[in-house]
Amino acid sequence: MRRPPVTTGPIRPRLPSPVRDAADPWLADRGVELRLKRDDLIHPLVPGNKWRKLTPNLRAAVEGGHTRLLTFGGAYSNHIRAVAAAGAAYGLSTVGVVRGDELADAPRNWSLARAEAHGMELAFVTRSGYRETLRGLGEDDPGTLRALEERWGRAYVLPEGGTNVLAARGAAELVAELPDLGPGDVVCCAVGTGGTLAGIAAGLPAGARAVGFAVLKGAEGYLEGEVARLHERGWGRPFSTWRIEHGYHGGGYGRVPAELEAFAAGFEKRHGVRLERRYVAKLLWGVYGLVERGELAPGSRVTAVVTGPPDPAGPPGPPGP
Ligand SMILES: *Cc1c(COP(=O)(O)O)cnc(C)c1O
Repeated sequence: MRRPPVTTGPIRPRLPSPVRDAADPWLADRGVELRLKRDDLIHPLVPGNKWRKLTPNLRAAVEGGHTRLLTFGGAYSNHIRAVAAAGAAYGLSTVGVVRGDELADAPRNWSLARAEAHGMELAFVTRSGYRETLRGLGEDDPGTLRALEERWGRAYVLPEGGTNVLAARGAAELVAELPDLGPGDVVCCAVGTGGTLAGIAAGLPAGARAVGFAVLKGAEGYLEGEVARLHERGWGRPFSTWRIEHGYHGGGYGRVPAELEAFAAGFEKRHGVRLERRYVAKLLWGVYGLVERGELAPGSRVTAVVTGPPDPAGPPGPPGP
């Protein structure tokens, strides 16, 4: 049954997002300054990099006369939830294609329940079907697009994780909110699909660098290729201002080994801020790791982008992007 779209009214983002010092004697001893770019505070329902990446796409969808957004994600996808809430704010209906047909008849987890509460229609597909569809979209396969349109009607299609050129340009705007960047500055973020890192790297002023921390295991080469492709498509040239660290995924997406948990809990206690575990904790763990390994020279100032808020309290869900 098709439900009417839920309209909640406009999203009022808190912008520019605050920048907070996260001074720490251990870092100070090593000559490194740390501050947090609190993008997690942009909006409670469309937070962090999801707001930055979605907003340009929502504008494009509305300008293109679309009335429906269609996107993809796993059972606990932050992107799926954000699209549902943003679609409701813009008066667009939303469809979420969710990986895992076994979820169709299971009780909804908190994340999918929230998406449905914002009017999103969920479609559960097998893992192989999901992979096939994403591959077809990535290759601009006309048959894949036609099949989606036959099933769902005309829709503005957002890829998994919401990363495309418009999304990367949206992420670049967070760098514009840091006018004091220059040589010695390193902007750090977590990397899921690479859209956020691509935007940050492209937006940096001369002398500043970006380091991304992969949250997926085994993504060496693949993620670098994705970022480079976004630069080529969005800016028409490569950038040499960035790199991706692959040593801090903690065993894979959604995995939080005891060492990472201990680091995150200690950071939270010292700085009075709660850390989202799948992305933000790994990013900060990686920053401390680089400092420990002497890979962030004394005099460096790190701006770590807090790309999203922690999950609501409760039992953690199984992994899945
Ligand atoms: C989605 C997400 C990311 C990943 O961003 P990409 O642009 O896909 O690399 C990072 N942090 C948080 C909190 C997210 O929700």
